[in-house]
This record gives sequence, structure tokens and C-alpha cells, in this order.
Amino acid sequence: MSAEPCVHYSAARKRHCGHTPTNLFIQGRRCSQHTPCALAGMPEPSPAPVLPTTVPRSDIARPYGWQAVMFIHAWNESARQRAGKRSA
Ligand SMILES: [Zn+2]
Repeated sequence: MSAEPCVHYSAARKRHCGHTPTNLFIQGRRCSQHTPCALAGMPEPSPAPVLPTTVPRSDIARPYGWQAVMFIHAWNESARQRAGKRSA
């Protein structure tokens, strides 16, 4: 939050909003009434990504792990063998 004024321009009032406090958006400083989401009629996004509680933490830490590494290794080996058989 900042004490700098909201820069949202109201065409009806022919002036900038000027309310405080504000947060900085791509569009500039905006008060809580004039955030991009508020103007679009959408709920504000949560401040941090929320992980689904059903996913075990170990799966988040290493989503593929050694199984994927060994699968790729086996795939490469079989591809090498197939290529060898084709050229021979
Ligand atoms: Zn405003």
C-alpha cells in the first residue's frame, strides 16, 4: 500500500480519483475501488498461488523425479538400438 493517490480517471467527473491508499498496477497507482479486477467486475486474485491441498507435498517438490529420468534414458537406449538395427 502507498500514500500516493489513485490515478484512475473518471470521465463522468472529469478528474482523477485521487483516493489513498493505493497499490501499484501496470495501469498505475489504483485504490481498492479502481483495481483492474474491480473495474472488470472480477474478484481480486489471492496474493500468492494456492496449492491444492489434495496434492502431496512430495509430488510438488519433484513432480517427475527418477521415474521420468529412467524412462527417458530407456527411451533413448531403445531408439539407439532401433537406429542401429535399421542401419545394419
Ligand atoms: Zn480510485
